Parts: sequence; structure tokens; C-alpha cells
Amino acid sequence: MSDTERPTDDGVPGTEDDEFEPVQVFPEAAEMDLRPGADDCYKCSTCDTNCPVAEVDDEFPGPKFQGPEQWRLKRQDDHDIDDSVMKCSNCMRCDSACPSEVPLSQMHNTARGEYVEENMSTFSREYLRNRLLANYRRLAPLAATFPRTANFVMGLSATKWIGEKVLGITSEREFPEFATETFREWWTKRGGAHVESDENRIAYFHGCYANYNTPEVAKALVRVYEHFGYEVMVPEQSCSGTPMFANGTLEDARRAAETNVEALAAALEDGADIVASCSSCSMSIRQEYPELFDFEDTAAVAENTWDAVEYLRVHEDLEGELAGTSVDSAAFAYHAPCHSRNQGLDGQTIELMSAIDGVEAHDVGDSCSGISGTYGWKAEHYETSMKIGEEMFEHMESAPAETGLTECPTCSMQMEHGTGYEIKHTLEVIEAALLEGDHDADRRGRQEAR
Ligand code: SF4
Ligand code: SF4
Repeated sequence: MSDTERPTDDGVPGTEDDEFEPVQVFPEAAEMDLRPGADDCYKCSTCDTNCPVAEVDDEFPGPKFQGPEQWRLKRQDDHDIDDSVMKCSNCMRCDSACPSEVPLSQMHNTARGEYVEENMSTFSREYLRNRLLANYRRLAPLAATFPRTANFVMGLSATKWIGEKVLGITSEREFPEFATETFREWWTKRGGAHVESDENRIAYFHGCYANYNTPEVAKALVRVYEHFGYEVMVPEQSCSGTPMFANGTLEDARRAAETNVEALAAALEDGADIVASCSSCSMSIRQEYPELFDFEDTAAVAENTWDAVEYLRVHEDLEGELAGTSVDSAAFAYHAPCHSRNQGLDGQTIELMSAIDGVEAHDVGDSCSGISGTYGWKAEHYETSMKIGEEMFEHMESAPAETGLTECPTCSMQMEHGTGYEIKHTLEVIEAALLEGDHDADRRGRQEAR
């Protein structure tokens, strides 16, 4: 495992050691006490002015109410969680906006879990729809067994109509296509890792989307890491839990997180660091797991999980390696996902892209894409989601580029939906620069000699 210095917990909400009198606010989380967070709020409203949902929906009371104010009210036994917590998209922008390090998203996640458990009927359409969306990982293997049939059926207007009328899933969006070969199938067929190394080893958390829908992103990660001489491990894994946190199905999230922590902790034992290609997956493992769960090794797994590009920037001279490489002239409209911003990674892609000859990457600003995972798939949130995304669409269209670039699969769906552009992942561009072209023969030779 790498001993490279990692950022400390400074600035990560909810990591203070202040002494306080425990107040149990969520029955399943006996250790959880968010009162100090609520007490740290001095009502500056910075979180509210940074909330994309509050900006376009006057009826949404905003993060200050969802977090500290509601938490104060919860001290009164008879106070229920307000149903507006289900309007929060879990973009987590309020977390990084708060100058007082109030653990806003931890409060929202916990409140949502309590609201779903105590106030939502398990027979309601909203509950069934939300669980369906949150448990994509359980449905995807079935669709991936018959991908062409699944893609055909999901593309039918009758399917979309039924989805909206029966389940409340918007018919305005195109369902993402399933790949004809999943990443894990490709990995097995390939015979696993092509590079072995005791010193340089990573465990890849590919998540659901790169496995079932965009295996080209996962393959790019493998090839780029092998280019740098890393042995890639692909441990068993479940969903990261992000859609479950956002839908308040915390027991589902707990099960998924337990599986992941166990498998990733075993990879740490084998000397690997953990990397993820999806910004929401790395966010979830790094921040939400330690905020909400206390499995053995949760903290070690969180501390040793990285964004895949960030890891190479810290451990290798990625910019140096990209300098002098080139790709066929390519211009990108780059959107930094909210969950990358929350990890402090929003500037890295633009910096990296400038090292590659022929690549122009234009930052389309710091607005939220508006889809926030499953949020923009809900019929009642579709319009809000598109209103939030308007600024990003406009900036993409005014940038001199007709291809989008991002690291989040659902931001990618929204970018494509709002502009019609093809969207790439940063790792795909890095792969093209490093592994395509004449310069690569020399580098491969160097790598084999390592
Ligand atoms: S997570 Fe996003 S949508 Fe939810 S309250 Fe915070 S800023 Fe608003
Ligand atoms: S930004 Fe932080 S301190 Fe300010 S109102 Fe929101 S939670 Fe309170």
C-alpha cells in the first residue's frame, strides 16, 4: 500500500472530536449524533445560496432547513422529518459551501433514511420506484444477459410511457444502453491483469455503470494503469451505495457498503490502493461510508480510496508523461461533477488536458448538471433537473467544442440529453494520448522493462 501523503480530514465535515452529550436521532445508527453539527451552524445561509435545487424551486426550503434546523427540531420527540428532504438531489454542494463544516449531507442522508422508514408506505408508487432506481445493480445483470433485447425494449416508446404512468420514471429521457460485453466479462476473457507487480498494485472499483454500460471507460483505466506498470486487481463489488443514500434506502446502502468494505479491505491487505473511475463512487466510499457506517476497516478503506486520475497525478508524473503526446484534433466541453468538486478535484482535468497536443478542453463553469443520479429520472423532478442544467447546456453550446467531457456517468447522461453531444470520460482521452500513436512503442518497451 502506498505511503504517499494523503489529504487529512481537515475540512471534511463530521470529523471533529468535540465532546457532546449523545442524542439518538436515528434508531439504526446508535453511534450517530449530529447535534454538534447542528450547533456549529451560525445561519449564514451560504449553503442555501449554493443549492441548485433551491435556486430553481421556490418551494424547496434548502440545506439549512434540511440539515441543522431540522436536526434542532428533532430534539422534540414529536417532530417528524419534513417530506421536502426527498427533494434534495444529494449533489452535496452544500457540504463544501459551508464555512462552519456542518455535516450537511450526513444530516440529509440520515433524515432521508428516517423519513423513508417512518413516513413512506412500502406499497406506495414512490417507494417502489425509488427502490427500483436505487437498486440498478440488481436489475442490470438481467438486462446485461440479453443486452440487445433489453436495449430494444427499453427504447420503445410504450416502455417509456408505462415507466412514467406506472412507476413515475420520466419518459423524457433515453435509457442508457447496455454493452454487449460487460467490463467483467472482458476482464475474464482477457485473463485478468497483464502486469504483475508487488510494489505497484491497485484495486479497481468500477461501479455499476462502467461495468454494464460503458466498459470502454473501465478498459481505458486498466490500460492506462498497466501503461504505468501497475498490477490491476478487480475485486468483487456491489453498488457504491450513492443512489441508495439519495433515495433514503439506507439498509440497502448498508448491505452494499458492507460487501464493498470487506472486499476492498482484503485488497488493501494484498498491498493495493483503491481507485474509482466514477466520481460519485469515490465520493461515497471516502465520505459517506465513514459518516454513516462503522464496519471494521471502513476508515482504512476510505483513507486509501482515490479518484483514478487523482491517484496517477499524485503517484506518477502524469502531466510529464502526457507532455509531447498528441491525439487527433479534439475539442471538449468539460463539466466538473459536483462530487468531484466535493473531493477538491474540479481543476485537475482541465490542467491535464492542456498537456496533450491537439486537445482543447473548455471548462463550462461550476454549475450543477442537474441530474444528480436518480433525481432527474423521477417524473416529478425532471423539469427541475433540466432547469438546473440550463446553465451547463448553454455554456457547452457556446464553447468551441462538440464533444463533452466529464467523470460522472449520470452527468454524462444529462450533458448528452441537453445538447445531443457525444460525451467522453477523461480516462478515455488519457488512454488515447498515451497508448495510441507512434510514441507508444517506445513507452511500452520502457514499461516492459520495469
Ligand atoms: S445536497 Fe444539493 S440539493 Fe441537497 S440540500 Fe445540499 S445543495 Fe441542495
Ligand atoms: S452554510 Fe453552514 S453555517 Fe451557514 S447556514 Fe448553512 S449549515 Fe449553517
